[in-house]
Amino acid sequence: MRILVTGGAGFVPSHLCERLLADGHDVVALDNYITGHTRNIAGFRDHPAFSLVEADLIEGIPIEGRFDRIFHMASPASPIDYVELPFETLYVGADGTRNVLRRAKADGARVLFASTSEVYGDPAVHPQVESYWGNVNPIGPRSVYDEAKRFSEALMMAFHRYEKVETRIVRIFNTYGPRMRANDGRVVPNFISQALQGQALTVYGDGTQTRSFCFVSDLVDGIVKLMESDLVEPCNIGNPHELSMLQLAEEINRITGNPGGLVHKPLPKDDPTRRRPDTTRARTNLDWSPQVPFDQGIARTIAYFADLFEKEGYGLSKRDAR
Ligand code: UDP
Repeated sequence: MRILVTGGAGFVPSHLCERLLADGHDVVALDNYITGHTRNIAGFRDHPAFSLVEADLIEGIPIEGRFDRIFHMASPASPIDYVELPFETLYVGADGTRNVLRRAKADGARVLFASTSEVYGDPAVHPQVESYWGNVNPIGPRSVYDEAKRFSEALMMAFHRYEKVETRIVRIFNTYGPRMRANDGRVVPNFISQALQGQALTVYGDGTQTRSFCFVSDLVDGIVKLMESDLVEPCNIGNPHELSMLQLAEEINRITGNPGGLVHKPLPKDDPTRRRPDTTRARTNLDWSPQVPFDQGIARTIAYFADLFEKEGYGLSKRDAR
């Protein structure tokens, strides 16, 4: 098939492109590099079935020829990215998703949208099941992301209902692995880059808040299965292995042998207190479950960052090195 991946030079989408190429498809990646990077696609940049288009999805999709599938992955995705890029985040979920859906309709393509566990906000139901409608602050700092994703889900369902476009919605829970941006501010790259430099790990708040971390190859597998399934309802993809941020920090300090310990910093506003996917729907409908245990995934991620910093220096982990 000929497949478009929006945000193709980002962390998760670059792994998705690689997987689709390995499956024998023709892949076109579209990116404007506001949070993606050509470093992520270097390994398959010259693959004969791959091409890369630099464009802003908010403006349109300047690519000729029909697509069979569109994976709509483009968006800033880290809390400190989307508060720095509020309008880009809102508009890619509005104009960007509309452009994707119009193109899908014109091409007769099936489209999958990368939604998020953030649609559940600070969840009052635990673990989060797809039928839960969420607890989102619609005007808080995270709202630019949460509401853009919720609006996109609504737009997907409207195009499905009224325009007969074939749509799929994945709700992605915290994902980690090689190619996360070293300075994206999320907890895994922060802790790893601090640990590798012998620094104290910055635990926000008291560190009792939880997240459930899924290795990127498991997520990509779930996304590909969902696209080829007949499931129109949103589907959680994530690893139910739940850790507090204190446990995560201790684990990363232990594996890296970091003597730097921890330091507590203020908790960001509206930071969800807990998060864990209910994956019954993915197991039942997609025959999907995560395969990579946390200790293996985190070891591979630490090795990636160690190699990256050795080649390019720790400047990459600084916030101004986008
Ligand atoms: N966090 C932390 N230290 C950091 C970065 C993040 O303790 O240096 C916490 C953050 O407050 C949140 C959790 O780690 O509770 C996950 O944050 P992240 O930004 O990775 O993703 P989120 O799940 O909030 O979108």
